[in-house]
Amino acid sequence: MIDTHAHLNFYHFQNDIDEVIEKSFAKGLEDIILVGTNVETSKIAVEMAEKNEKLFATVGVHPQEIDEAKEFPKIEALANNKNVVAIGETGLDYYRLGENLEEGKRAQKELLLSHIKLAKDRDLPLIFHNRDSHEDFYQIVKDKDVRGVIHCYTGNVDFAKKILDLGFMISFTGIITFDRGENLIEVIKKVPLEKIMVETDAPYLSPVPYRGKRCEPWMVKEVIQKIADIKELTFREVEEKTSSNAKVFFGI
Ligand SMILES: [Zn+2]
Repeated sequence: MIDTHAHLNFYHFQNDIDEVIEKSFAKGLEDIILVGTNVETSKIAVEMAEKNEKLFATVGVHPQEIDEAKEFPKIEALANNKNVVAIGETGLDYYRLGENLEEGKRAQKELLLSHIKLAKDRDLPLIFHNRDSHEDFYQIVKDKDVRGVIHCYTGNVDFAKKILDLGFMISFTGIITFDRGENLIEVIKKVPLEKIMVETDAPYLSPVPYRGKRCEPWMVKEVIQKIADIKELTFREVEEKTSSNAKVFFGI
């Protein structure tokens, strides 16, 4: 099992990070991808990856951290580290833009383009986060010829098809185990296993039956089991394929 998107670099884990990592590997995880969301969390991800060969880092500025856009040169510098396996998370998130809508969208688009350029320069894949922004996002990435994954996929079947046509991967979180994840069943049925990765987005989105608890990487097994149930495959089949997909995608 590989958790392709966890934020063990967040303060939520600062008191027991060693135990969480140990527990995750004891429960069968092979690797964990630590995802940066600003300069600080990107830096911590890189430092953690340097200390443990089963941890890898990504560096980027989350669209909701747009105030840090001017710090992007620091992200470019961090991207030189050999343990950095992707750029992101980046994308467009229009959910909480409120007033200044147009200005906020413009700033996010510019920041997304900076990430795309960095990924191409370093020949690294991208981790994309999108919320209420699918069409704008698609218009930006469609002709950029980049490798990417849409993390925490919550879109519909049509958008999944457009994304797959670009050669992107699709990654699912514990949301697929929620009641409100019902609409994702159809998506999971239609997306080939070769295009699927799994993640927790820890400390958020704990899958059933761990709702209400802090999410930890080993809980990704519930995401794998749900995909296996929907696709009528064994846990083992989904585990092996999603792991090998992640190894190829991140080059680990
Ligand atoms: Zn995330």
